[in-house]
Amino acid sequence: MPCRSTPEGVSAVSERVLYSACLLGVRCAFDGCDRRAKLPRGFPAAGEIPVPVCPEQLGGLPTPRVPAEIIGGTGFDVLDGSAGVFSRKGRDVTDAFLRGAREAVRVARITGCERAVLAEGSPSCGTDWHYDGSFSGRRVRGPGTTAAALVRAGLEVAAPKEVPGSAGKNEPSRTRS
Ligand code: SF4
Repeated sequence: MPCRSTPEGVSAVSERVLYSACLLGVRCAFDGCDRRAKLPRGFPAAGEIPVPVCPEQLGGLPTPRVPAEIIGGTGFDVLDGSAGVFSRKGRDVTDAFLRGAREAVRVARITGCERAVLAEGSPSCGTDWHYDGSFSGRRVRGPGTTAAALVRAGLEVAAPKEVPGSAGKNEPSRTRS
């Protein structure tokens, strides 16, 4: 939601935008590192006030943690109960992913975010694709659990390369329910 912001050096009209925290430099990824290198130059864009969230931490998972993948569908299917999220060791972590998705939506609502810039490929934050659950590096199309929940909550969700004017492709490709 656009808001007036007056401090010197800040755009007169600013917009709070939800960001995957790892893209902003928070060391919240499963390996205890950040994913700052995956955020193209120019992000956050001028006028954006980034709101960092890590759904997997918000869901109660530790850092570092065993990596997990969606098995049996996309993030939408996880939300609907027809797919699950499992760690590489076979632990069912679906409930933690659902909790993290709900909390990310809650943060978006509290802060008035109407857009989200999310890390691609994650079972939580992935927008266009995630891994197929075999832990072999194979990709499948579809959003992660939090990206799907944010879409259903009405947010515009995109990976940073998809944002017009970024260093990646210029045609935006938004995730839809
Ligand atoms: S859940 Fe999202 S914010 Fe957290 S580490 Fe994974 S991609 Fe980054």
